[in-house]
Formats: sequence, C-alpha cells, structure tokens
Amino acid sequence: MVEVAHAPAALEWDTPLYRQARTQLEEAVVQADIPDFVVERLRYPERAVMMTLPVRMDDGTVRSFPAYRVQHSSILGPTKGGVRYDAGVNLGECAALAMWMTWKCALLRLPYGGAKGGVRCNPRELSQAEVARITRRFTAELTPFIGPQEDIPAPDMATNEQTMAWMMDTYSMQKGYAVPEIVTGKPISVGGSVFRHEATGAGVVMVVQRACERLGWNLAELRCVVQGFGNVGGIAATELVEKGATVVAVSDMTGGVFAEDGLDIPTLHEHVREHGTLESITGVTRLSNAELLELPCDMLVLAAREDQVTAANADKLHCRIVVEGANGPTSVEADRILAGRGVPILPDVLTNAGGVTVSYFEWVQDLGRLFWDREEIRARLADKLGEAFDRVWSLAEERRLTLRDAALVAGIREVSAALEARGLYP
Ligand code: NAD
Repeated sequence: MVEVAHAPAALEWDTPLYRQARTQLEEAVVQADIPDFVVERLRYPERAVMMTLPVRMDDGTVRSFPAYRVQHSSILGPTKGGVRYDAGVNLGECAALAMWMTWKCALLRLPYGGAKGGVRCNPRELSQAEVARITRRFTAELTPFIGPQEDIPAPDMATNEQTMAWMMDTYSMQKGYAVPEIVTGKPISVGGSVFRHEATGAGVVMVVQRACERLGWNLAELRCVVQGFGNVGGIAATELVEKGATVVAVSDMTGGVFAEDGLDIPTLHEHVREHGTLESITGVTRLSNAELLELPCDMLVLAAREDQVTAANADKLHCRIVVEGANGPTSVEADRILAGRGVPILPDVLTNAGGVTVSYFEWVQDLGRLFWDREEIRARLADKLGEAFDRVWSLAEERRLTLRDAALVAGIREVSAALEARGLYP
C-alpha cells in the first residue's frame, strides 16, 4: 500500500516531473524563435496555492490533507485543468501538469491557459462521504482563486462527474446562485455536456485514426495494448475495438490482463463496475504493468499516469507507435531513445486534448445556457483535433521535428504571440 504523508509539502515545485516539463519547454523554444522575456514568463507558474484541508473522517477523527492548485498562464484566458486525488500529488507535479495544459489549450486554439490541482490522499482508503467532505473543503478553500472567468477545474485521476457536482454545489452555495460554468465534466443534470465523459478516450482514437491515415496503416489490422483502464484508457479501449482494432492487453493499478486473440472489453468494464478494479478477473492471462509495456504489439496506448516509459524500459518496448492518453507518461530520455529507434510518439498535448476541448464546449454551453446534441459535439471535436493534428504533422515534416516538439512549438507560439501583443505588465 502507498504510504501517504499528511503533512504539507515544502513550498517547491522543482521536482523531476516539473524538470521534465521545463526541459521540454527549453528544447522546444530553440525551434520556435520566442523572445527571451516570453520564455522567462512561461518557465514558472503564475500562481500556486497550497492548502491543508482539515477533514472529519467517518470515525470522528480529523485528518489534514495537503492540497494544491497551480495556475500556469492566464495570457489567453481563464486557466483550465483537472483535479486529481492521488497519494503522490505534490506541487511540482501540479506545476508540470499545469504547464502542459497551457500548451494543450493553446495548440487546440482554446481561449484558456493551463492549471492543475489535486489533493494528496489515497482515494481507495476513503469512503464516499469522506471524499465528499474533502472535495467540499477543497472547493471552499479555493473559492477566492477560481471562477468561470478565472480558473475552471475539471476531473482527472480518481475524480469524476460526482466530484465536479460537489465542487459546483459548494461554489454555488457560497455565491448564492447556481454557477454551472465553474467546473466542467459535471453530470448532465447540473449543466454538464453530453459526450464530455467519453471525450478524452474518444479523442485519443480520433487522433490515432488521423495518424493511421498519414502513416498508411489500417487501424482494423492493429494489435493494441492499453495501460490504464479508467476514464481515458477504458474508453479508448472501447473505441479502438469499435473501429476494428484488436486490444490484446489492458491494465490498471492492480496489474494487467492479456488475451492473444483480443480481450472482451465490455466484460472487463462490467467487472470493473462491479468490483472496482481488474484484480479478481478470471479467464485471462495475468501480467504485471512492467510486462504489459514490453508486449509485442503495433500500438501502445499509455493512459494511466506520468513517468511510465523511462530510460530504464524505453529500449524494451516492442510497439510501432506510442500513444499518450495520459499526461507526461514518457520521460525526456525515453523520448530520445524512442526517436532513435524510429518509434513515433503521439504526444499528450495533442492526443488527450479531446477532454479539455469538450470541457470548453461545456463551458460555452453553460455560459450561453444553450445546449448542443451529441452529434454536433462529436463533429466539432473531430474538426478541432483533426485541424490541430494536421498543423502538428506539417510542422514536424517541414522542420524535421518529432511530433512532440512540433506540438509544443505550435502551442508555445500561440501563447507567445499573445504575450508579445499584450506586453509585459507594467
Ligand atoms: P482514472 O483515475 O479514471 O484512471 C486511471 C487508470 O490508471 C485506472 O485504471 C488506474 O487503476 C490506472 N493506474 C493508476 N496507476 C497505474 C499504474 N502505475 N500502472 C497501471 N495503471 C495504473 O484517470 P483518468 O482520468 O483516466 O486519467 C488517466 C491519465 O489521463 C492521467 O495522466 C490524466 O492526467 C490524463 N488525462 C485525463 C483526462 C480526463 O478527461 N479524465 C484528460 C486528459 C488527460
């Protein structure tokens, strides 16, 4: 079991994940011709809020949970990004993820900057009532720093529609009226958008389809491995199978399952709905997450968490393409190793951008109090992702960049153009 420290972390964001995001920025700006003052502004988050949440547990005791919200850049608009509940949440992780959100929103030409936040806790050890109290206290503490025109949270690891409903309710109670546009990824009954739940996983597969067209591959002939079977990985696996691909292995934090002729994904979903994880499933071959990453396949979809493919295992991957559904799953060293081996990576800032794009659609619908149907949202999402993919692909070809560098350069240029036009205040 993961050891959870219940003491506030040091006020520092200089962790390995933040250094990974910083290194990517420094390498990308060499290609992007960005003024020094812009790079200096973008190296660091604009604002980081650290909180300690005192929460009454079901047994009557009070525990303190460290919590964070980092807002990286508000140059293009309100900041936007997920909230995660995980034993590893720290300031540097939130700062890195917030920076990636800035590039992602800019690449997709959404009028947002990046943010990220979370609570350091082990959600598997908490009751639903405890999670609700943590969420409400977190939202109350954050209220001075968030808002529909300031910073708009969304779900991420171990948070979901229900978490967003509690956040929306807590914020609305403090304002005295319903404010659905304060969060995205809400239930439809409180102003959520159709297709938001599926948007990230479905968007991953839209990007994969576009890449297959460019590479001349037939998706229906590909054997895929998916790490992570939550919102992103679970839905990506379903969509891949619907498009005719064979998903031979998937995993969650309890390990992986494998079937040579392809897994029955709906049965796995049924099992997870009933038991919470894949742990007790029978009738399939079990394997560890490390083994899963090294399985021979055409496509490896990383949809669990950061830091999964590193210098230690990048040489051992046996796939033809890596697809980043998660944020930051590939280290800088692994990027170089895979590039050297000729294995392309569909980078996170492009590939998992379906989530924030439909979050943007949700916010627009909430502000206008006018709701669109599923077909319209799916079509608008496919357009947005397809257009961003084409821009990244062309830039990579023109400038001989990896797809990651091209995506970062394209995103950073958008932010830079706005910052250059606005100038450095005062
Ligand atoms: P989730 O909590 O719904 O699912 C995470 C899954 O990964 C679970 O199946 C969990 O058991 C598994 N997992 C956790 N640690 C693991 C490990 N070490 N090895 C293997 N499996 C592990 O979270 P999610 O929303 O699907 O997010 C997954 C990733 O996608 C994160 O990096 C998140 O930041 C990113 N992301 C999510 C969204 C979204 O809309 N939810 C959008 C963009 C990016």
